[in-house]
Amino acid sequence: MARLAQTAGLDDVQREILSTVRDFVDKEILPVATELEHRDEYPQQIVDGLRELGLFGLMIPEEYGGLGESLLTYALCVEEIARGWMSVSGIINTHFIVAYMLKQYGTAEQKEHFLPRMAAGDIRGAFSMSEPGLGSDVSAITSKAVRDGDEYVLNGQKMWLTNGGTSSLVAVLVRSDEGHSAEEVAARPHRSMTTFLVEKEPGFGEVRPGLTIPGKIDKMGYKGVDTTELIMDDLRVPADRVLGGTTGRGFYQMMDGVEVGRVNVAARGCGVAQRAFELGVRYAQQRHTFGKQIAHHQAIQFKLAEMATKVEAAHAMMVNAARKKDSGQRNDLEAGMAKYLASEYCKEVVEDAFRIHGGYGFSKEYEIERLYREAPMLLIGEGTAEIQKMIIGRRLLEEYRFQG
Ligand SMILES: Cc1cc2nc3c(=O)[nH]c(=O)nc-3n(C[C@H](O)[C@H](O)[C@H](O)COP(=O)(O)OP(=O)(O)OC[C@H]3O[C@@H](n4cnc5c(N)ncnc54)[C@H](O)[C@@H]3O)c2cc1C
Repeated sequence: MARLAQTAGLDDVQREILSTVRDFVDKEILPVATELEHRDEYPQQIVDGLRELGLFGLMIPEEYGGLGESLLTYALCVEEIARGWMSVSGIINTHFIVAYMLKQYGTAEQKEHFLPRMAAGDIRGAFSMSEPGLGSDVSAITSKAVRDGDEYVLNGQKMWLTNGGTSSLVAVLVRSDEGHSAEEVAARPHRSMTTFLVEKEPGFGEVRPGLTIPGKIDKMGYKGVDTTELIMDDLRVPADRVLGGTTGRGFYQMMDGVEVGRVNVAARGCGVAQRAFELGVRYAQQRHTFGKQIAHHQAIQFKLAEMATKVEAAHAMMVNAARKKDSGQRNDLEAGMAKYLASEYCKEVVEDAFRIHGGYGFSKEYEIERLYREAPMLLIGEGTAEIQKMIIGRRLLEEYRFQG
């Protein structure tokens, strides 16, 4: 799509990276995405290609072998990739969040140990906050770590790990209330959580003593990428695998990771919406009813106009949120707004493109059928719409505090 979702002010390196990624998406992802998705097949060849392009190290600093690019570059690449197939952007996203948390909070030894191999794509990351009984309410986490000499012993069940099977490093958030009384923990639940860097073999079953990945969760969409549970049964993790070396900071580290993840989910929404628009505008010029292209019925033109406007608006908000973070400023308000708007608009644009396809949109032969099943995931991941609105609302009340 030549005209929509352009980004002003990019430098030559950013333009070159984006054009390479777009080329890769057009040649290597789009032609196979729908078929692989229907088979729920992991896109190994695509992942190998992304690895060769250096995408797993896009934001990892150059001193650790990455490309040291900005969040904006990363988000624009994700937008391109999601335009090809949203699941592929999911494969990169959790890896990116774990690498980001390591870069921000890891000890020197942890960065040295993980980042170069993460940049090369040899280690791939997953992150795990959710449990069977909670997703939005992270403060209710029940999985627990208890210190035992130079190790911690972890117990509990985690849910919904994107890349849970294919990853070899999982950042796991658990409760670690050492030194705090039960009353202190109840009063300040966020301060008794710790992120552990858990290494494991990729695959399913017992992937490390005390750690089981039972199998893939069967999903309505977002197929190809594996989503799993994770069960810890006296899993022993060395104390030097506490992210940043100090317990009690996990909640804040994870929230920072999720905040950049939100820009990323917004970018995915933009990419999927762009693809839906492309499919809709093409079909509208192929299908004839009542003696003319359906694109020449005003009702369909209005739909296209609304879809394109939404694509543009979501892109602008996503770019704004990424640039704010890149400039070193707090961006939770902008990231929350971008994630909320882009995911809602994505769902609406996909639905309109689906309607433009008439009955054919319901057929698995048409790509829009896949997008229709994929878009809802963006309404949930990295915090639901309701959670985004809570974040936005709280921040607005901080900014516009009534002084009367
Ligand atoms: C495909 C997929 C992949 C995922 N990948 C990961 C991953 O890699 N790592 C990870 O940790 N998690 C992951 N998740 C989990 C995801 O983050 C959670 O599903 C999400 O945060 C919502 O939590 P929940 O499902 O427990 O819903 P709940 O928190 O139970 O919410 C249910 C409903 O209640 C609403 N609600 C909740 N609290 C409030 C409130 N205070 N006010 C108003 N409404 C409220 C919610 O918006 C929602 O509509 C994934 C989920 C899916 C579906």
